[in-house]
Amino acid sequence: VAKRLSGKTILITGASSGIGRATALEFVKTAPDVRLILTARRQEQLEELKTEIETLSGAAEVLVKKLDVSEPADIKRFWAELPKEEWKDKLDILVNNAGLVKGFEHVGDIAEEDVNIMYNTNVTGLINMTQAVIPLFKTRDAGTIINIGSIAGREPYPGGSIYCSTKAAVRAFTESLRKELVSTRIRVAVIDPGQVETEFSVVRFRGDKAKADAVYAGVEPLTGEDIAEIVVFVAGRRENVVIADTLVFPSHQG
Ligand code: NDP
Repeated sequence: VAKRLSGKTILITGASSGIGRATALEFVKTAPDVRLILTARRQEQLEELKTEIETLSGAAEVLVKKLDVSEPADIKRFWAELPKEEWKDKLDILVNNAGLVKGFEHVGDIAEEDVNIMYNTNVTGLINMTQAVIPLFKTRDAGTIINIGSIAGREPYPGGSIYCSTKAAVRAFTESLRKELVSTRIRVAVIDPGQVETEFSVVRFRGDKAKADAVYAGVEPLTGEDIAEIVVFVAGRRENVVIADTLVFPSHQG
Protein backbone atom coordinates (compact mmCIF):
# COMPACT_ATOMS: atom_id res chain seq x y z
CA VAL A 1 0.00 0.00 0.00
CA ALA A 2 2.83 2.39 0.82
CA LYS A 3 4.23 1.84 -2.67
CA ARG A 4 0.87 2.37 -4.35
CA LEU A 5 0.23 5.62 -2.47
CA SER A 6 3.81 6.88 -2.66
CA GLY A 7 3.98 10.38 -4.14
CA LYS A 8 0.23 10.60 -4.68
CA THR A 9 -1.49 13.98 -4.57
CA ILE A 10 -4.57 13.90 -2.37
CA LEU A 11 -7.20 16.57 -1.77
CA ILE A 12 -9.26 16.31 1.42
CA THR A 13 -12.24 18.54 2.18
CA GLY A 14 -13.09 19.16 5.83
CA ALA A 15 -9.53 18.35 6.93
CA SER A 16 -9.59 20.69 9.95
CA SER A 17 -11.09 18.14 12.36
CA GLY A 18 -12.47 14.64 12.89
CA ILE A 19 -12.39 12.14 10.04
CA GLY A 20 -10.78 14.51 7.53
CA ARG A 21 -7.93 15.39 9.87
CA ALA A 22 -7.38 11.75 10.79
CA THR A 23 -7.42 10.80 7.10
CA ALA A 24 -4.64 13.26 6.30
CA LEU A 25 -2.49 11.80 9.10
CA GLU A 26 -3.26 8.22 8.07
CA PHE A 27 -2.15 8.87 4.47
CA VAL A 28 1.14 10.26 5.77
CA LYS A 29 1.65 7.35 8.18
CA THR A 30 1.02 4.92 5.30
CA ALA A 31 3.07 6.70 2.63
CA PRO A 32 5.37 9.37 4.12
CA ASP A 33 5.92 11.12 0.77
CA VAL A 34 2.29 11.84 -0.08
CA ARG A 35 1.32 15.31 -1.26
CA LEU A 36 -1.72 16.67 0.58
CA ILE A 37 -4.05 19.53 -0.22
CA LEU A 38 -5.84 20.22 3.05
CA THR A 39 -9.00 22.30 2.88
CA ALA A 40 -11.71 23.56 5.26
CA ARG A 41 -13.06 26.89 6.47
CA ARG A 42 -10.85 27.04 9.62
CA GLN A 43 -7.39 27.80 8.30
CA GLU A 44 -5.70 27.88 11.72
CA GLN A 45 -6.53 24.20 12.38
CA LEU A 46 -5.26 23.33 8.92
CA GLU A 47 -1.96 25.13 9.58
CA GLU A 48 -1.57 23.20 12.86
CA LEU A 49 -2.21 19.95 11.02
CA LYS A 50 0.36 20.90 8.38
CA THR A 51 2.96 21.41 11.13
CA GLU A 52 2.05 18.08 12.72
CA ILE A 53 2.38 16.30 9.38
CA GLU A 54 5.71 17.95 8.62
CA THR A 55 6.98 16.83 12.03
CA LEU A 56 5.78 13.30 11.33
CA SER A 57 7.34 13.12 7.88
CA GLY A 58 9.99 15.28 6.29
CA ALA A 59 9.01 13.86 2.90
CA ALA A 60 5.34 14.88 2.80
CA GLU A 61 4.31 18.02 0.93
CA VAL A 62 1.35 19.91 2.36
CA LEU A 63 -0.66 22.72 0.82
CA VAL A 64 -3.25 24.39 3.04
CA LYS A 65 -6.16 26.14 1.35
CA LYS A 66 -9.16 27.76 2.94
CA LEU A 67 -12.28 26.48 1.19
CA ASP A 68 -15.96 26.69 1.99
CA VAL A 69 -17.53 23.97 -0.14
CA SER A 70 -21.03 25.31 0.49
CA GLU A 71 -20.19 28.35 -1.65
CA PRO A 72 -19.95 27.61 -5.39
CA ALA A 73 -18.04 30.87 -5.89
CA ASP A 74 -15.47 29.79 -3.29
CA ILE A 75 -15.02 26.44 -5.04
CA LYS A 76 -14.39 28.28 -8.32
CA ARG A 77 -11.88 30.58 -6.60
CA PHE A 78 -10.15 27.58 -5.02
CA TRP A 79 -9.62 25.78 -8.33
CA ALA A 80 -8.57 28.98 -10.09
CA GLU A 81 -5.93 29.66 -7.41
CA LEU A 82 -4.62 26.11 -7.10
CA PRO A 83 -1.19 26.00 -8.79
CA LYS A 84 -1.91 24.17 -12.02
CA GLU A 85 1.17 22.17 -12.88
CA GLU A 86 2.38 21.52 -9.37
CA TRP A 87 -0.92 20.53 -7.74
CA LYS A 88 -4.04 20.56 -9.92
CA ASP A 89 -2.72 18.51 -12.83
CA LYS A 90 -1.15 16.01 -10.43
CA LEU A 91 -4.26 15.31 -8.37
CA ASP A 92 -4.79 11.57 -7.84
CA ILE A 93 -7.35 11.27 -5.05
CA LEU A 94 -10.26 13.42 -3.89
CA VAL A 95 -11.77 12.70 -0.47
CA ASN A 96 -15.12 14.49 -0.24
CA ASN A 97 -15.43 14.50 3.54
CA ALA A 98 -16.72 17.98 4.52
CA GLY A 99 -20.16 17.69 6.02
CA LEU A 100 -22.34 18.62 8.93
CA VAL A 101 -25.68 18.31 10.64
CA LYS A 102 -27.50 21.16 12.36
CA GLY A 103 -30.23 20.37 14.84
CA PHE A 104 -32.85 17.70 15.41
CA GLU A 105 -35.99 19.62 14.48
CA HIS A 106 -38.91 17.99 12.77
CA VAL A 107 -39.61 19.04 9.19
CA GLY A 108 -42.15 21.76 10.00
CA ASP A 109 -39.75 23.46 12.40
CA ILE A 110 -36.45 23.41 10.51
CA ALA A 111 -35.05 26.84 9.70
CA GLU A 112 -34.50 27.49 6.00
CA GLU A 113 -30.94 28.52 6.83
CA ASP A 114 -30.20 25.08 8.32
CA VAL A 115 -31.71 23.27 5.32
CA ASN A 116 -29.52 25.33 3.02
CA ILE A 117 -26.30 24.89 4.98
CA MET A 118 -26.72 21.09 5.10
CA TYR A 119 -27.69 20.72 1.45
CA ASN A 120 -25.14 23.24 0.17
CA THR A 121 -22.31 21.59 2.12
CA ASN A 122 -23.13 17.89 2.10
CA VAL A 123 -24.63 17.65 -1.39
CA THR A 124 -23.96 20.62 -3.67
CA GLY A 125 -20.44 21.13 -2.35
CA LEU A 126 -19.58 17.48 -2.87
CA ILE A 127 -21.06 17.54 -6.39
CA ASN A 128 -19.21 20.73 -7.32
CA MET A 129 -15.88 19.38 -6.08
CA THR A 130 -16.46 16.14 -7.97
CA GLN A 131 -17.38 17.94 -11.18
CA ALA A 132 -14.16 19.88 -10.97
CA VAL A 133 -11.96 16.78 -10.79
CA ILE A 134 -13.67 14.57 -13.38
CA PRO A 135 -12.14 16.36 -16.41
CA LEU A 136 -8.68 16.15 -14.77
CA PHE A 137 -9.06 12.45 -14.03
CA LYS A 138 -10.48 11.77 -17.51
CA THR A 139 -7.44 13.37 -19.13
CA ARG A 140 -5.20 10.83 -17.39
CA ASP A 141 -7.79 8.02 -17.27
CA ALA A 142 -6.94 7.60 -13.59
CA GLY A 143 -8.07 8.92 -10.24
CA THR A 144 -10.03 8.05 -7.13
CA ILE A 145 -13.02 9.81 -5.61
CA ILE A 146 -14.01 8.78 -2.08
CA ASN A 147 -17.21 10.25 -0.68
CA ILE A 148 -18.06 10.15 3.01
CA GLY A 149 -21.73 9.34 3.37
CA SER A 150 -23.40 8.06 6.54
CA ILE A 151 -25.58 5.30 7.90
CA ALA A 152 -28.10 8.17 8.14
CA GLY A 153 -28.49 7.96 4.37
CA ARG A 154 -29.60 4.34 4.64
CA GLU A 155 -31.58 4.46 7.89
CA PRO A 156 -33.35 7.82 8.21
CA TYR A 157 -34.64 8.78 11.67
CA PRO A 158 -37.17 11.31 13.00
CA GLY A 159 -35.53 14.71 13.35
CA GLY A 160 -32.98 13.82 10.71
CA SER A 161 -34.97 14.51 7.55
CA ILE A 162 -32.53 16.98 6.06
CA TYR A 163 -29.23 15.41 7.13
CA CYS A 164 -30.41 11.88 6.28
CA SER A 165 -31.66 12.95 2.87
CA THR A 166 -28.36 14.73 2.13
CA LYS A 167 -26.51 11.50 2.86
CA ALA A 168 -28.98 9.44 0.78
CA ALA A 169 -28.17 11.90 -2.01
CA VAL A 170 -24.42 11.33 -1.54
CA ARG A 171 -25.01 7.61 -1.86
CA ALA A 172 -27.16 7.85 -4.99
CA PHE A 173 -24.83 10.40 -6.58
CA THR A 174 -21.78 8.22 -5.92
CA GLU A 175 -23.39 5.12 -7.37
CA SER A 176 -24.60 6.91 -10.52
CA LEU A 177 -21.15 8.39 -11.00
CA ARG A 178 -19.43 5.05 -10.55
CA LYS A 179 -21.68 3.56 -13.23
CA GLU A 180 -21.08 6.50 -15.57
CA LEU A 181 -17.34 5.96 -15.24
CA VAL A 182 -17.19 2.18 -15.57
CA SER A 183 -15.48 2.38 -18.94
CA THR A 184 -12.67 4.46 -17.41
CA ARG A 185 -10.04 3.75 -14.77
CA ILE A 186 -11.49 6.35 -12.43
CA ARG A 187 -12.57 4.77 -9.16
CA VAL A 188 -15.54 6.01 -7.20
CA ALA A 189 -16.44 4.90 -3.68
CA VAL A 190 -18.73 5.79 -0.81
CA ILE A 191 -17.95 5.05 2.84
CA ASP A 192 -20.90 5.19 5.23
CA PRO A 193 -19.83 5.46 8.88
CA GLY A 194 -22.05 4.80 11.87
CA GLN A 195 -21.35 6.71 15.08
CA VAL A 196 -17.93 8.40 15.14
CA GLU A 197 -16.75 10.63 17.98
CA THR A 198 -15.58 13.90 16.40
CA GLU A 199 -16.68 17.54 16.52
CA PHE A 200 -19.74 16.42 14.55
CA SER A 201 -22.05 16.27 17.60
CA VAL A 202 -20.83 19.62 18.89
CA VAL A 203 -21.81 21.14 15.54
CA ARG A 204 -25.14 19.28 15.59
CA PHE A 205 -25.92 20.70 19.07
CA ARG A 206 -24.85 24.16 17.90
CA GLY A 207 -21.77 24.28 20.15
CA ASP A 208 -23.26 22.70 23.31
CA LYS A 209 -20.36 20.42 24.26
CA ALA A 210 -22.09 18.88 27.31
CA LYS A 211 -24.99 17.72 25.15
CA ALA A 212 -22.58 16.48 22.49
CA ASP A 213 -20.55 14.49 25.03
CA ALA A 214 -23.73 12.89 26.41
CA VAL A 215 -24.28 11.25 23.00
CA TYR A 216 -21.21 9.08 23.56
CA ALA A 217 -21.83 8.29 27.25
CA GLY A 218 -21.81 4.55 27.91
CA VAL A 219 -20.98 3.58 24.33
CA GLU A 220 -17.74 3.17 22.47
CA PRO A 221 -18.08 5.07 19.21
CA LEU A 222 -15.73 4.78 16.27
CA THR A 223 -12.87 7.26 16.10
CA GLY A 224 -11.87 9.41 13.18
CA GLU A 225 -8.83 7.14 12.86
CA ASP A 226 -11.07 4.09 12.33
CA ILE A 227 -12.65 5.73 9.30
CA ALA A 228 -9.32 7.15 8.13
CA GLU A 229 -7.86 3.63 8.01
CA ILE A 230 -10.72 2.58 5.74
CA VAL A 231 -10.32 5.59 3.44
CA VAL A 232 -6.63 4.77 3.04
CA PHE A 233 -7.41 1.08 2.53
CA VAL A 234 -9.91 1.90 -0.25
CA ALA A 235 -7.50 4.37 -1.88
CA GLY A 236 -4.55 2.01 -1.57
CA ARG A 237 -5.93 -0.97 -3.50
CA ARG A 238 -4.50 -1.96 -6.87
CA GLU A 239 -5.87 0.53 -9.43
CA ASN A 240 -8.27 -2.04 -10.89
CA VAL A 241 -9.92 -2.72 -7.52
CA VAL A 242 -12.91 -0.61 -6.50
CA ILE A 243 -14.34 -1.00 -3.02
CA ALA A 244 -17.48 0.80 -4.07
CA ASP A 245 -19.52 0.75 -0.92
CA THR A 246 -18.53 0.37 2.74
CA LEU A 247 -20.70 0.46 5.86
CA VAL A 248 -18.84 0.79 9.18
CA PHE A 249 -20.39 0.50 12.63
CA PRO A 250 -19.03 0.51 16.17
CA SER A 251 -19.86 -2.90 17.57
CA HIS A 252 -22.62 -1.58 19.89
CA GLN A 253 -24.57 0.07 17.06
CA GLY A 254 -27.41 -1.97 15.54
P1 NDP B 1 -16.25 17.16 12.23
O1 NDP B 1 -17.26 18.19 12.60
O2 NDP B 1 -15.18 16.82 13.19
O3 NDP B 1 -15.59 17.52 10.82
C1 NDP B 1 -16.34 18.09 9.77
C2 NDP B 1 -15.38 18.77 8.83
O4 NDP B 1 -16.15 19.35 7.76
C3 NDP B 1 -14.61 19.88 9.50
O5 NDP B 1 -13.27 19.81 9.09
C4 NDP B 1 -15.26 21.14 8.96
O6 NDP B 1 -14.27 22.14 8.84
C5 NDP B 1 -15.71 20.67 7.59
N1 NDP B 1 -16.75 21.51 7.03
C6 NDP B 1 -18.00 21.73 7.51
N2 NDP B 1 -18.64 22.60 6.72
C7 NDP B 1 -17.77 22.93 5.72
C8 NDP B 1 -17.84 23.79 4.61
N3 NDP B 1 -18.94 24.51 4.32
N4 NDP B 1 -16.77 23.87 3.78
C9 NDP B 1 -15.67 23.16 4.04
N5 NDP B 1 -15.52 22.34 5.08
C10 NDP B 1 -16.58 22.23 5.91
O7 NDP B 1 -17.13 15.85 11.89
P2 NDP B 1 -16.73 14.44 11.22
O8 NDP B 1 -15.28 14.31 11.04
O9 NDP B 1 -17.46 13.42 11.98
O10 NDP B 1 -17.44 14.60 9.80
C11 NDP B 1 -16.82 14.28 8.58
C12 NDP B 1 -17.84 13.63 7.66
O11 NDP B 1 -18.27 12.40 8.24
C13 NDP B 1 -19.10 14.45 7.43
O12 NDP B 1 -19.46 14.39 6.06
C14 NDP B 1 -20.15 13.74 8.28
O13 NDP B 1 -21.45 13.93 7.78
C15 NDP B 1 -19.67 12.29 8.15
N6 NDP B 1 -20.16 11.38 9.17
C16 NDP B 1 -19.89 11.59 10.50
C17 NDP B 1 -20.38 10.71 11.45
C18 NDP B 1 -20.16 10.91 12.90
O14 NDP B 1 -20.83 10.22 13.72
N7 NDP B 1 -19.24 11.77 13.32
C19 NDP B 1 -21.17 9.54 11.06
C20 NDP B 1 -21.36 9.40 9.64
C21 NDP B 1 -20.88 10.28 8.75
P3 NDP B 1 -14.48 23.70 9.03
O15 NDP B 1 -15.50 23.89 10.13
O16 NDP B 1 -13.11 24.19 9.40
O17 NDP B 1 -14.94 24.22 7.71
